[in-house]
Amino acid sequence: MDEKLIEYIRELIPENHRVLTDQADLYSYSFDASFGMHVPELVVQPKHTDEVAAIMKLANQYHIPIYPRGQGTSLSGGPLPVKGGVVLDLSKWDSKLEIDAEDMVAVVSPGVLTADIHAAAMESGLMYPPDPSSSHVSTIGGNLAENSGGPRGLKYGVTKDYVIGLEVVTPEGEVIQTGGRTIKNVTGYDLTKLIVGSEGTLGIITEAILRLTPKPPATETLMALFDDIVDSGRAISQVLSGGILPAKMEMMDQASIQAVENYQPLGLPTDVEALLLVELDGHPAAIKQEITDTKHICLQAGAREVKVAQTNDEARELWKARKLVSPAIVRVKPTKISEDATVPRSKIPDLFQALKEIKEKHQVDLVVFGHAGDGNLHPNIIADKRDEEEMKRVEKAVEEIFETAVKLGGTLSGEHGIGTMKSPFLEMELGEVGVDMMKRMKNSWDPNHILNPGKIFPEPGQRLVLTDES
Ligand SMILES: Cc1cc2nc3c(=O)[nH]c(=O)nc-3n(C[C@H](O)[C@H](O)[C@H](O)COP(=O)(O)OP(=O)(O)OC[C@H]3O[C@@H](n4cnc5c(N)ncnc54)[C@H](O)[C@@H]3O)c2cc1C
Repeated sequence: MDEKLIEYIRELIPENHRVLTDQADLYSYSFDASFGMHVPELVVQPKHTDEVAAIMKLANQYHIPIYPRGQGTSLSGGPLPVKGGVVLDLSKWDSKLEIDAEDMVAVVSPGVLTADIHAAAMESGLMYPPDPSSSHVSTIGGNLAENSGGPRGLKYGVTKDYVIGLEVVTPEGEVIQTGGRTIKNVTGYDLTKLIVGSEGTLGIITEAILRLTPKPPATETLMALFDDIVDSGRAISQVLSGGILPAKMEMMDQASIQAVENYQPLGLPTDVEALLLVELDGHPAAIKQEITDTKHICLQAGAREVKVAQTNDEARELWKARKLVSPAIVRVKPTKISEDATVPRSKIPDLFQALKEIKEKHQVDLVVFGHAGDGNLHPNIIADKRDEEEMKRVEKAVEEIFETAVKLGGTLSGEHGIGTMKSPFLEMELGEVGVDMMKRMKNSWDPNHILNPGKIFPEPGQRLVLTDES
């Protein structure tokens, strides 16, 4: 990047230390939690809307690629600077976290950690329901851009269901407000919903108004162990069709259980094919009855054993297993390809069956866990990126996972986004005209293609490559 442009940017940001040019700093922004490494030419840490607006105006004039970034926990390559240019690190901008208990909203800056919003809402007797598993490290800006989900999505919905207003800087450097503080708002097109989940390709989110709900008075937790993974899929469908709507319904397959037991033994049986973790929330009397019913349904569907937590500590202990899956599986091999194929609930048993077959056919270390209650599974393939032959098999397996999800009436991504990892498969789900309509929107918002280029839409001939030839 031209030295003169870097100087212009330095003039826009009052403190020098918020403009990073050292190689060591640039390298630390070259990756996220997915695959691939791309070093930016400059990193800027804005803390005000007018700074972002001025940078975008300059970038638009000189055609500099700009990559918004939160904490880099994206599993789809979202913040990677694939075409060089500037990374806008918004994670330092956490100055505003206001709870208005009367309006039941939170007003937040983009760099606030999601877990801090949870804690602040709880203090006011309220709840911010979206709860991605990364909430202790990820920013609300990243959650909004990815329309993050998480275990509570089953009952409460996902991030987009709780965003009612945004402040956004457009790729041309204009500042716009979308939505507002009211729950109901049907004035014009719903730009709030368009920006949420647009993966940082349409605008930079600089402030958000989030809807809060009353905190549920009580919770109950249960763990069910299954000898056959397909039976666990059937239990999920039967609980839901039985009229019970858990707050969380998560599954772990045998490989995840074994990895957790090797990492930090919790006393889980390693010979079961799957376990389900269910959390119910609501009125204490209602959920006592529902937990008894859920236990009964799981046993009828073939569960070997069902444990109901008697205290909050016991419940926390049961959930520990699920929390440990991610750190545990990377101990098996260093490279983790994390997918989020999602199917209609009725197809969960078919997806389990197909994943079993893909694992055997391509001889890959496929581990399955995730938010099974809403059909959003996380097939993770554990590999070693230095082993090229293995990575070729992984590429084929990943492709088949996507094909299966779409064939079963599902989607490429339930919550991680398209980013760089899934763009070659976009047309498989949306069709040619569907992709073209989205491209037309992108072109009109960002005529010079400076905001997060290389994401969502594939380059001509782009395919999934998981070796270092990429
Ligand atoms: C262990 C682990 C567990 C996870 N669990 C879940 C889960 O349960 N559910 C889930 O949905 N995801 C999950 N994720 C994925 C990831 O945490 C989320 O996508 C998260 O929202 C990313 O937040 P971030 O602050 O790290 O953003 P980044 O990874 O830095 O960026 C993500 C995307 O947002 C864009 N972006 C960031 N900030 C802004 C902004 N202010 N304006 C415009 N665009 C912006 C970036 O350009 C990029 O495209 C998990 C990841 C890990 C590593």
